[in-house]
Amino acid sequence: MRLAALFLGGVVLSSGLAAAGISLAERKGRAAAWFAGWGLAGALPPVAAALVSPSRTPAFVVVLAYLAAAAVLAFPFNPKRRDEGTDPSGRFDERDTMFSRRELVPGTSRFEEYYARHPEKRAADEGFRARPGLLSPKAAHYEAAGFAAAEASFAAVKALHPLAEGKGGGGEAPKAGRPRPEEAGDNTRFIKSWALKLGAHSVGVAGSQDYHFYSRAGRANRYGVPVEIRHPFALAFTVEMDPEMIGRAPYAPVVMESARQYLKAGAIAVQLAETIRRRGAEARAHIDADYLVICPLVARDAGLGEIGRMGLLMTPKAGPRVRIAVVTTDWPLLADRPARDGTVVDFCRACRKCADACPSKAVPRGVRTEIGGALRWRIDSEACFTYWCAVGTDCGVCVRVCPYSHRDNVFHRAVRAGVRRSLLFRRLAVPLDDLFYGKQKARKEFF
Ligand code: SF4
Ligand code: SF4
Repeated sequence: MRLAALFLGGVVLSSGLAAAGISLAERKGRAAAWFAGWGLAGALPPVAAALVSPSRTPAFVVVLAYLAAAAVLAFPFNPKRRDEGTDPSGRFDERDTMFSRRELVPGTSRFEEYYARHPEKRAADEGFRARPGLLSPKAAHYEAAGFAAAEASFAAVKALHPLAEGKGGGGEAPKAGRPRPEEAGDNTRFIKSWALKLGAHSVGVAGSQDYHFYSRAGRANRYGVPVEIRHPFALAFTVEMDPEMIGRAPYAPVVMESARQYLKAGAIAVQLAETIRRRGAEARAHIDADYLVICPLVARDAGLGEIGRMGLLMTPKAGPRVRIAVVTTDWPLLADRPARDGTVVDFCRACRKCADACPSKAVPRGVRTEIGGALRWRIDSEACFTYWCAVGTDCGVCVRVCPYSHRDNVFHRAVRAGVRRSLLFRRLAVPLDDLFYGKQKARKEFF
């Protein structure tokens, strides 16, 4: 039994030191110190029981206590495993998004028409219009080189817009024969593998739902045009944002990284759409500033994650630290049929890190409410966007502090597995993340 106690002490110590080493590699000094301390403190009782006492009883009691604690934590007691949250009952009008409202020009008929329909939004929108604006040289976090880099990436995304529907660039796609439904399995395997090879972080297929699509478009020359549902399938994928860059939110690196990943997602999406068109089917890429679908909802229904407190898609491996793009198509595909994972929403119920850290108080601290038929947390998008226009970046503080945003490595994978498996583990993980990682102050510099 003394040998067992010594072995247990060694396992606890080496686990603590391994976690400390991983934290050091992640440049999380505070967590490294805590893990090393926990490893030492945790190893002490079994080692002392084995070496100090002449009797075998203390070693037996300590080993038993440690095994019991591990068994309780690993026990799959998980009453909130399924989320029974409902889906939106109708479609959302893109003209109500902040990005569409931002494009309204005072004095134009479009501007007057919008605020005649929505007088309640006028005061809030005057708030963001009074601020310098996204990527403005007058914004609080203006940084010349960083903002220029972000603008360059956004300009490149814009250059992809004609390719989203297959217009321009490369001429007419040669048509293969009409796609056959019995090829759905092969098509799905091929297009998912190709998406991953092109650089997607995760990929899934959803059957198109009414609520995936905007009711009317709200950007550029499509403003006000009703959105048709032409395609029965939606291929959704994520690209991962670099944790180092997100760790600098809300300063310039965060918007550089957003723009870089929008461009990466856009380039992948237009290639996938063109590949499908060349197989004889219709396809439409939905990329930054050129969406007809609400990407987080499509991605959720394709099994890529759940919608958390901050209103973003929370993926299993990178949490909200992703960007999403979608390709809708009539090419026969097999839709994923994911079971809804209630553990994310349950974790968010106990964790309010994003709400506490949000500089504009846009993330609610309370419970989910029914909005448009769906249970969700109501984000104050006016307050969020007004803050963006003040600092000049897309902020990202909520993403930076989220416990799900940790890197995808062996340690955080083990923690996430525990969070999915056990209610008790989830309840412990929230305060421990606070203790180990603290408020995670941002570094400003890019280099
Ligand atoms: S992006 Fe910033 S302002 Fe917006 S919700 Fe997140 S933390 Fe708040
Ligand atoms: S910070 Fe916490 S509450 Fe907010 S989305 Fe992440 S897990 Fe949920």
